[in-house]
Amino acid sequence: MLREHDTRFNLLNVLAPLGKEEPPPPQPKMGFFTDTSVCIGCKACEVACRQWNQLPAPEPVWSGSSYDNTRHLSARTWRHVQFVERIDHGRGKPLPVLPLFEDRVAEARENGTIPETPPGTALPFFNSERWLMHSDVCKHCANAPCHEACPTGAIIRTEYDTVYVQQDICNGCGYCVVACPFGVIARDESGDYTAHKCTLCYDRLKDGLEPACAKACPTDSITFGEVEQLKQKARERLGILHERGVPEARLYGVDDQILDGGLNSFFLLLEEPEVYNLPRNPQRPANNVIPASLWSIIGALLLGVLGALFFREKKGGDD
Ligand code: SF4
Ligand code: SF4
Repeated sequence: MLREHDTRFNLLNVLAPLGKEEPPPPQPKMGFFTDTSVCIGCKACEVACRQWNQLPAPEPVWSGSSYDNTRHLSARTWRHVQFVERIDHGRGKPLPVLPLFEDRVAEARENGTIPETPPGTALPFFNSERWLMHSDVCKHCANAPCHEACPTGAIIRTEYDTVYVQQDICNGCGYCVVACPFGVIARDESGDYTAHKCTLCYDRLKDGLEPACAKACPTDSITFGEVEQLKQKARERLGILHERGVPEARLYGVDDQILDGGLNSFFLLLEEPEVYNLPRNPQRPANNVIPASLWSIIGALLLGVLGALFFREKKGGDD
């Protein structure tokens, strides 16, 4: 026979999933500082990300325009080391290069260590005036357009202030994909049709580990830590580069200008943001809501007035 406390116990078990779970206590804001001036393009970060998150490797594609054969971030590529071959971009003008590096390249060119064009490739090797490397990733924006656009609540902010997609809630509508101004988040068209992107290794953070890409980076181009400390570090590094004769070095996403709050994953760049395919002034689609609503109201009012005038005149004519 079923005893009374057994019944209560079973009912609680049934109702438990319907109750709201306590959110985890807030933690310091965590993020990435990616210093492109020391990236060597080894792609260790890209591989480590793929390996830790068990993302299938795509078939390499020879684009014909770059040595980079991953080409862009996607639902299955959450870290992408972009190669920016700056071929003749200075059009004869002297170009800024990192001072120590300049001498080494000149010396290697002179003694023939650097080949003109490596066998089997179409691009000149080191004859591009400059070769920039940039390990791109989700910016974990402070005001994330993907988060604002998601109609199901599948995209959340974690206790570390990172942006996380819950695949079991995502319905694959793709609103986040068009809202992201950086082209980061994507729907897995050959998998589960839900949105995917970098999680800032949420599972590793929970266990006190740093994200796989930062762990693997041999030059510390990617550093992980508390956002405010990383911002301080980024400003110091910028000062050092300016002192060492690299005036074109700049920070991207450190101040609060971008997307009205800055980025939790920010960059030190050696050229204009557009060179790295980063928008100079990305927009939050949410900022369009009020102007677009006002224009809709004005349009509706005008239509109403015109309609009223039309019917009044028609009525006058009939009389
Ligand atoms: S970079 Fe794109 S995907 Fe990442 S948080 Fe910002 S809007 Fe979302
Ligand atoms: S691991 Fe570090 S050095 Fe290598 S490609 Fe990634 S960011 Fe650059």
